Amino acid sequence: MKKQVQPRVEKGPRPLLSFTEQRVGKPPRHLIDLDPEARRALLVELGYPSFRANQLLKHYFAHKTIDPEIMTDLPAANRAELVKKVFPPLITQVKTQEADGGDTVKILWRLFDGVVVESVLMKYPDRATLCISSQAGCGMACPFCATGQGGLARNLSAAEIIEQLRMNMVLAEAGVLGESVRITNVVFMGMGEPLANYKAVISSLHSMIDPLPHGFGMSARNITVSTVGMVPIIDKLADEGLPVTLAVSLHAPDDGLRDDLIPINSRFKVKELLDAARRYFVKTGRRVSIEYALIKDMNDHKWRAELLAHELNSRGKGWVHVNPIPLNPTPGSIWTAATKKSETVFVETLLKAGISTTVRDTRGSDIDGACGQLAAGTVNPENVAKRAIKAQQAVDERIAKHRHEPENLDSILSVRENDLVKE
Ligand code: SF4
Repeated sequence: MKKQVQPRVEKGPRPLLSFTEQRVGKPPRHLIDLDPEARRALLVELGYPSFRANQLLKHYFAHKTIDPEIMTDLPAANRAELVKKVFPPLITQVKTQEADGGDTVKILWRLFDGVVVESVLMKYPDRATLCISSQAGCGMACPFCATGQGGLARNLSAAEIIEQLRMNMVLAEAGVLGESVRITNVVFMGMGEPLANYKAVISSLHSMIDPLPHGFGMSARNITVSTVGMVPIIDKLADEGLPVTLAVSLHAPDDGLRDDLIPINSRFKVKELLDAARRYFVKTGRRVSIEYALIKDMNDHKWRAELLAHELNSRGKGWVHVNPIPLNPTPGSIWTAATKKSETVFVETLLKAGISTTVRDTRGSDIDGACGQLAAGTVNPENVAKRAIKAQQAVDERIAKHRHEPENLDSILSVRENDLVKE
């Protein structure tokens, strides 16, 4: 498998990053995995005129269907056989959970080789958002996350990513959220690190954004790609000409804590990551989101909010928006969400420093709210809990050293103020 990044991983009790897929099987060939030219070529290879590709794609993207009975503009004789060859079933709905009075629906999907992923559909007054998975499992090993406990099973193909969207679109329009709604927004915040599965994620973004017959024609502005900090790939994404929103899962403004909380920080440090995020803003004009899971007495301190504000302000004004999120702990977690009081202080500190900030709601927290929990819990809940405790205990002692305000905080903050970018 071609790897995008070779991280330098520190030895020791830190959780190990993994870029190697545990599963090697590839899903069956699917029309959606191909570029427009290859789509036409596939039809020719199967013995059909190339224009049939666009007819099939119109059914897929406009009508969201792979049912041959509906495709009456195709010759009836071999229709079912053709559709099976170009749109082989890739994902099967295995478990559905509702929360938030029916406004949130989490679905567990089984893929062709038995691995499972999850998607979360959320209805808001002004939009419907789908959170999708880009990998089965995740190799980033964040010790607060259920998905991170099991490692990376494998990357999803572009078609597997898009099938999550198409099938959720069908369910949403059929009223799974209580009324017929159209999915307007997509966030890559389910299982996996999207930028570690770059090729498939870019291909899936095209299928979301491109106009008919090659895509759903969604607005790029309504699509968010998250990352824990694969710096070189952020720059690559900025060069794609796809003005999607970038969300950086930061969770700590200092390397001391972030090295343990987000293991890829051992390779790409906070400053490098924020510089890359800023470059993304400059190149695309899209304001970057900073995701910050507030964990009690770990990263929820006022001084950390001050440090975060200074790191962001020192790179300019108005380029970033912070979303603090109360942690929804992994089963077995020894860590828990910040108190309401410290959450309020954290948010007010950021706002006072001029940083646009909104506490993100934790949709689905009465089921399995944090990323990857539905899937992880279904596969082996006890194992997930055991792994979570082990992963957290391994780093908790070291993290304890980073709870207190550094003695030189004032000088750190004042140095930064001199760097403020005038805009
Ligand atoms: S928090 Fe995201 S990047 Fe980290 S292990 Fe979980 S899924 Fe992977």
